[in-house]
Amino acid sequence: MKRTVSKRQAVRQALLLVSLLLFPITLYYFSPALILQGGSEGIVTGSAISFALMFLASLLVGRLWCGWACPGGALGEVCTAVNPRAVRGRRLDWIKWAIWLPWISLLAFLVIRAGGYQRVDPLYMTAGGVSVVDAQGYIVYYGVVGLFFILSVAVGRRAGCHTFCWMAPFMILGRKLRNVFAWPSLRLQSDPQRCSDCMTCTQNCAMSLDVNAMVKAGAMEHSECILCGKCVDGCPSKAIQYVFRAGK
Ligand code: SF4
Ligand code: SF4
Repeated sequence: MKRTVSKRQAVRQALLLVSLLLFPITLYYFSPALILQGGSEGIVTGSAISFALMFLASLLVGRLWCGWACPGGALGEVCTAVNPRAVRGRRLDWIKWAIWLPWISLLAFLVIRAGGYQRVDPLYMTAGGVSVVDAQGYIVYYGVVGLFFILSVAVGRRAGCHTFCWMAPFMILGRKLRNVFAWPSLRLQSDPQRCSDCMTCTQNCAMSLDVNAMVKAGAMEHSECILCGKCVDGCPSKAIQYVFRAGK
C-alpha cells in the first residue's frame, strides 16, 4: 500500500502524541494561572520559565513548538479525525490577544505589587515535578483538555491555537522581533514558478492558511504559521521548502 505520510510528518505526529501523553505531568509548566499565583508571591514558576523559553526559541525557530511539541496543538490535531474543517476567518486569531493582553498586564501588576521576582521555583505547585496528582489537578486537566477538544470539534482544525492559546502570543511576538532585525532563522520559502495550483497545501494546512496564495505571492511569513511542514511535505511540485536564513 502507498505510504501517504512522509517520514518527517510521522516523526512530528509521534512527538505530538508523546507530548499529549505527558500532559498530565507537564500541565502546570504551561499554566496561565500558576504564573499569576507565583507572580503574586514573587516566585518565578515553571510556566514562567516555559513561556520565556518559548519566546527565546521563537527568535530562531518561530512557532516550531506549536507545530511539533505542544500538547494542546496535539489534541487539536487528534480532533481533526472528528472535525477536519478548516478554520476560516482571520478575525478569530485576534481573540487570543484580547485574552493575552489583560492577562500579561495582570501578571505585571502582581509581580510589581509583590516587589518583583525574588525566587525561582520550577516545580512550583507540582508534586516532585508531576502536575496532576489529586482531584483538583484532574479538574484543571480535564478543563483544559475539554476546552481544546470542544473548540476543535465545534469550530475546526486547531481552533484552540487560533482563539485562546495564551502561549502563542509569546512566539508571535518573538517572531515579529526577529523579522524587524531580519536575523537568520527557520522559515518557509516558496518557488512560485513550480506551483501547479493543485491546492494540496491550502487543503492540508494545520492552521487553515491560504498557503497557495502565500506561495504565489512568494510571501510565506504568517503569524499563524506553526512550521509544521505539512505543506512542505505534501507539495507534489516541491514548491515549498524549510530554510534557515536571514529575511523578513
Ligand atoms: S501543494 Fe505545491 S503545487 Fe500544490 S498549490 Fe501548494 S505550492 Fe502549489
Ligand atoms: S503554512 Fe505550512 S508550515 Fe505553516 S502551518 Fe500551514 S502547513 Fe504548517
